[in-house]
Amino acid sequence: MRIAIIGTGYVGLVTGACLADFGHVVTCVDKDPVKIEALLAGRMPIYEPGLEDLVARNVREARLSFTAELAPAVREADAVFVAVGTPSRRGDGHADLSYVYGAAREIAVAVAGFTVVVTKSTVPVGTGDEVERIIRETRPDADIAVVSNPEFLREGAAIEDFKRPDRIVIGIEDERARAVMAEVYRPLYLNQGPLLFTQRRTSELIKYAANAFLATKITFINEMADLCEKVGANVQDVAHGIGLDKRIGSKFLHAGPGFGGSCFPKDTLALMRTGQGHGVPLRLVEAVVGVNDARKTAMARKIVSAFDGDVSGRTIALLGLTFKPNTDDMRESPSIPIVYALLDKGARIRAYDPQGMDEARKVLGEVDYRSSAYDCIDGADAAVIVTEWDEFRALDLDRVKRLLAEPRIIDLRNIYRPEEMARRGFRYESVGRRAVN
Ligand code: NAD
Repeated sequence: MRIAIIGTGYVGLVTGACLADFGHVVTCVDKDPVKIEALLAGRMPIYEPGLEDLVARNVREARLSFTAELAPAVREADAVFVAVGTPSRRGDGHADLSYVYGAAREIAVAVAGFTVVVTKSTVPVGTGDEVERIIRETRPDADIAVVSNPEFLREGAAIEDFKRPDRIVIGIEDERARAVMAEVYRPLYLNQGPLLFTQRRTSELIKYAANAFLATKITFINEMADLCEKVGANVQDVAHGIGLDKRIGSKFLHAGPGFGGSCFPKDTLALMRTGQGHGVPLRLVEAVVGVNDARKTAMARKIVSAFDGDVSGRTIALLGLTFKPNTDDMRESPSIPIVYALLDKGARIRAYDPQGMDEARKVLGEVDYRSSAYDCIDGADAAVIVTEWDEFRALDLDRVKRLLAEPRIIDLRNIYRPEEMARRGFRYESVGRRAVN
């Protein structure tokens, strides 16, 4: 099959590279010429494990190409995937659909022959109807079927997730699209793949419902963590104890600094707005959004209170800046409000992140970036573990203690054990576990 992907970001590039790897002929389009130039030169515009090799192999084998010109790619395609951004609209939290609708207009002008237009971006219920209306208005003669096919991959494990998904949700209104979509995903499976065909609006809502549910799980365990700290319980044991119940499941029960990233914050907000817009207040989702927002400032307060309320003039070393490990994505990372709150209180911030420092420079203020974890903590008054990158999980604690001006660690990811840290002479704080000092 010939496939065009519009938008070559985290989702578009991974989708394109994986579909090419399974034998389709894929053209990835992006309107950002810098991204396309980088890709044509063999450089990845994002960090995602395994992506560079996957892209290089499929480019070499002539199944994957990149262009800034949408029209020729769309004209030749059997299926056109729209994977452009849908950020929060400034001010009101609705999903900003201007990129999706802009892409729809461009596709409409270029499309030739029967073409399935697939919305991979996360879009509110009814967006597919509007995409179809735009294309039909722009090109009344266009022979198209507009499909919803939300993406569930996780950054940091995107290739594996795309190639071996739990399910592939496909929302169709035109039966002709069923065979095309089945053929797009057929090479991923020897037997029948986990394809779930449904209506387009249902498919659009499945994506938001899934993200809101996962965000709720995280927020729930974070609230339990707060309670654990007050009552002297251990949130990791609580998570383990409830997670062994198969009706609950152990995933997404890690207490921490609150969810961030390019999806959960904006998607919970957009779902909340959709509910309000239809007169169906989603009170649970609203609570999740509110609790998670409050958590970001609470984390900064936690760090300040480790200094008995005064961080002015103190040097604080942040280990990890991205919203989770194995990505360079800084969007809505919990590190951002933490940095600003600490700077505001007069602290000096040092930081190290294995992959995120280029992105971090674009969003953070006065930060002294260091080239390794040990360089970062050298002479600092505290180390704060913000992101649980592998390389922070087994630090040489004797060296850490020697390097820190004061042996103070605030571990927002619960990597280390309070008893062990106390034994080693650290002043150690974590999330939802009693400090043992
Ligand atoms: P991104 O910002 O990394 O990439 C979007 C790309 O689209 C940009 O490179 C931009 O230049 C390009 N673009 C915008 N308009 C265009 C146009 N008219 N023609 C060509 N290119 C255009 O975004 P992302 O993180 O890949 O997310 C894309 C969508 O997928 C969003 O709706 C997001 O919610 C959803 N999603 C993201 C993830 C994730 O982990 N990042 C997971 C699941 C779903």
